[in-house]
Amino acid sequence: MSIHFLNCFTCNARAPLDWRSGTLCLLVETDQGPVLVDTGLGQDDYIHQTSILRIFQVITIVPLNPQEAAVRQVAHLGYQPEDVRHIVLTHMHFDHCGGLPDFPHATIHVHRREYEAFAGRPRRWTDLGYVRRHIAHQPEFVLYDDTGSSWLGLTATRLPFEPAMWLVPLFGHTRGHCGVAVQTESGWLFHVGDAAPIDLGEYAPGWLVRVALGPHAPRLREFGAAHTRVRMTTGHMWLDFFEQGAE
Ligand SMILES: [Zn+2]
Repeated sequence: MSIHFLNCFTCNARAPLDWRSGTLCLLVETDQGPVLVDTGLGQDDYIHQTSILRIFQVITIVPLNPQEAAVRQVAHLGYQPEDVRHIVLTHMHFDHCGGLPDFPHATIHVHRREYEAFAGRPRRWTDLGYVRRHIAHQPEFVLYDDTGSSWLGLTATRLPFEPAMWLVPLFGHTRGHCGVAVQTESGWLFHVGDAAPIDLGEYAPGWLVRVALGPHAPRLREFGAAHTRVRMTTGHMWLDFFEQGAE
């Protein structure tokens, strides 16, 4: 079993210029075939750019390389798009689920609150990151609720795959945002998505992180300090992270 780390959307800061980051998607080999955790941009996003992506082009530097589409990277790893039967989403922002139409055979696993935030009327500014056409192909959804179970002390819901995977609610960045924990041969990987800044670093004042990413970053850093054997990743990682490819 291995986990491949894919950069499915490079997004660099205008200043400082050495802030070069990619959007982390996981390809996890499971008993039900390769499972994607988030998709990055989809192929159509490169052709018909969404308005939110155009805003990103103004405020950041986005090279927009279509080779970064998850479906192309999955092909490089030897899989057909239809081999991907399951996709787990941390949340449904355009840069995390734009690739859903490229995997029309996949069932989408997401927290019910996130799906409802996506499908309902926009209520807050982070809802502007949702792009309706990303589910225009009407994929099948499995929606998760809190079940009272927990993973390493955090409220979590078990996902139906082996090795074990858990959906860990970290609401705030979006109304139903979750992290995803994956059991690996060397221990747990805890992908916290956009609930914390890149690689859990402290680059901005706490209030700003709270507004943009929700309230969890301090608690997640404490969790990391208390569980040094759990490897933690974030929805956006420095570009050099991706050079390792797989775990
Ligand atoms: Zn996001």
